[in-house]
Amino acid sequence: MARYTDAVCRLCRREQKKLFLKGLKCSSEKCPVGKRAFPPGQHGALKARTKLSNYGLQLREKQKVKRMYGILERQFRRYFAIASKSKGVTGKILLQLLERRLDNVVFRMGLAHSRAHARQIVRHNFIAVNGKRVNIPSFLVSEGDIIQVQTKEKKRQLFKDILEITKGRSVPSWLSFSPQELKATVLRLPEKEDIQQPIEEQLIVEFYSK
Ligand code: SF4
Repeated sequence: MARYTDAVCRLCRREQKKLFLKGLKCSSEKCPVGKRAFPPGQHGALKARTKLSNYGLQLREKQKVKRMYGILERQFRRYFAIASKSKGVTGKILLQLLERRLDNVVFRMGLAHSRAHARQIVRHNFIAVNGKRVNIPSFLVSEGDIIQVQTKEKKRQLFKDILEITKGRSVPSWLSFSPQELKATVLRLPEKEDIQQPIEEQLIVEFYSK
């Protein structure tokens, strides 16, 4: 499974926005986005002053969302293809597909510092969906699904420590989460309003519709 392995703070700096890819560091003073508010590279400061064209805006929005969810281009295109063939508003369905990924759900439950960390937790066989082990981060959850830490893994100090760190983070209302049982139920499919970071999905639709 291909994934991005280079320095992730560069990605935030390129988008000039916090994408929260590093867990604890993102909420600390060490986050470089505030300190160096321009894209990385030799001409970064110049790029920050350049006004973006329509195409540039669409490209940046697409890159931002792709990076937020830790997805590479081919898979992101695949999600767009599914969304555009589905009934309903393409942009909304695209966001729904991204939110329904199992690694994102584990992150939203507060069982991981970041989506990359959640992906690792899923890959290490710690998570079960409806009682069956699932180790595929791109697995899409559906309404009524029960996602939980496998019984034999529940006692791990890892989850106690993470919950302590993420306890201030709110779990979105489309999930009902029990921290005692390390278990969440999908109450309904996610909506755009459930995603705290602002996303202009229409720009992404325009980007791929050319
Ligand atoms: Fe790095 Fe997190 Fe700051 Fe992004 S938000 S630059 S990942 S510390």
